[in-house]
Amino acid sequence: MKTENIYRSFGIEDSTFFYANQILDELKERFLKIDEIAEINQLKVIKAMQDARVSEACLLGTSGYGYSDIGRDTLEKVYANIFHTEDALVRPQITCGTHALALALMSNLRPGDELLSPVGKPYDTLEEVIGIRESKGSLKEYGISYRQVELLENGDFDFEGIKNAINERTKLVTIQRSKGYQTRKTLSVEKIGELIAFVKKIRPDIICMVDNCYGEFVQTIEPSDVGADMVVGSLIKNPGGGLAPIGGYIAGKKECVENAAFRLTSPGLGKEVGASLGVLKDFYQGLFLAPTVTANALKGAIFASACFEKAGFSVIPDSKEERFDIIQAVTFHKKEGVIAFCQGIQAAAPVDSFVEPQPWDMPGYDSQVIMAAGAFVSGSSIELSADGPIKPPYAVYFQGGLTFEHAKFGILKAFQAVKNAGLIKELS
Ligand SMILES: *Cc1c(COP(=O)(O)O)cnc(C)c1O
Repeated sequence: MKTENIYRSFGIEDSTFFYANQILDELKERFLKIDEIAEINQLKVIKAMQDARVSEACLLGTSGYGYSDIGRDTLEKVYANIFHTEDALVRPQITCGTHALALALMSNLRPGDELLSPVGKPYDTLEEVIGIRESKGSLKEYGISYRQVELLENGDFDFEGIKNAINERTKLVTIQRSKGYQTRKTLSVEKIGELIAFVKKIRPDIICMVDNCYGEFVQTIEPSDVGADMVVGSLIKNPGGGLAPIGGYIAGKKECVENAAFRLTSPGLGKEVGASLGVLKDFYQGLFLAPTVTANALKGAIFASACFEKAGFSVIPDSKEERFDIIQAVTFHKKEGVIAFCQGIQAAAPVDSFVEPQPWDMPGYDSQVIMAAGAFVSGSSIELSADGPIKPPYAVYFQGGLTFEHAKFGILKAFQAVKNAGLIKELS
């Protein structure tokens, strides 16, 4: 059977199929470069596992207190090897990315200290952690103050402003690698290195932390290779490879990780407790797959960018730009576009494909939001997913895809849905 016939049975018109395949042809060289990065990162992960002497026994778990959990302790060595850090904390008890970041901050800051973000506003959920938005248990409630320096108009660091913002109370600098759901550019690891070097020149004792969410394995180096004292992320994004069912990590200087461990469990207990239950095999295997899964997601993002760009929509990043995370934004300027796109992604899912997502009032958002997610791990955004707030400029944010084939299918379904809604006229 011809491929287009199969796609046709899924409601994809031949014109959409051939349009997309032509675009794919033009992306071949770009994809080869991504494969080269995946190859290097795959070897990096295998080397890290071999050096840590991962054994079959490591894949089993513990219960209760989890004393002497060899699998958990070895996995933390593997993470430390990958990130080239002194130590790491990788736990199912870290419930998500926000929790990992909150933990890293709260355990390394003390009352009277100041936190600085030199890259503008941090990710939405961190506003409550820091206390930018009032919240119970925020850093602010504990007497930890916060300062923020905006990026310059052109996206560069405001070095003068950063220098002026650093004072004797500045204890920790937080740098978000990915743009998240903002319109600024995502920072390359090299750029992050420049910023860290600048901060360390002013005060070498300031802890530099990087929110690494969505950035892992996109390049061959990580922020910890360019001076970050701590890198922090979620296992239901890139490093979990789609298999980790929960979890977060903090990799960094021994003292930073130790502080986080004592805060996660209890003073006096630290890393010694915390049963791994039955998740270790998925943590290991997911990490093993993470370089290629990330590469697939990256290809999906570029392919989506190219398809919608050529059809006349504004896309961030554009199809030619270098990429430093896996997020793709497409702007429709009409709510129908956002809705159709998300419904198309959902219809391509292996799980819950029969569900039609609708805009909804969600806690924490100031407008209705629509979300598409047909994932094996609930809320996993390394799996193919999309969401968009129903407000101008009516942009949709798209990420993930465990396989490129699935990402391609999802993008074709989304494109066809947008076309069926009458928002795409002619295909060249
Ligand atoms: C996803 C994300 C977070 C928060 O992670 P959750 O797992 O959703 O809590 C923080 N920062 C960035 C940049 C992210 O992409």
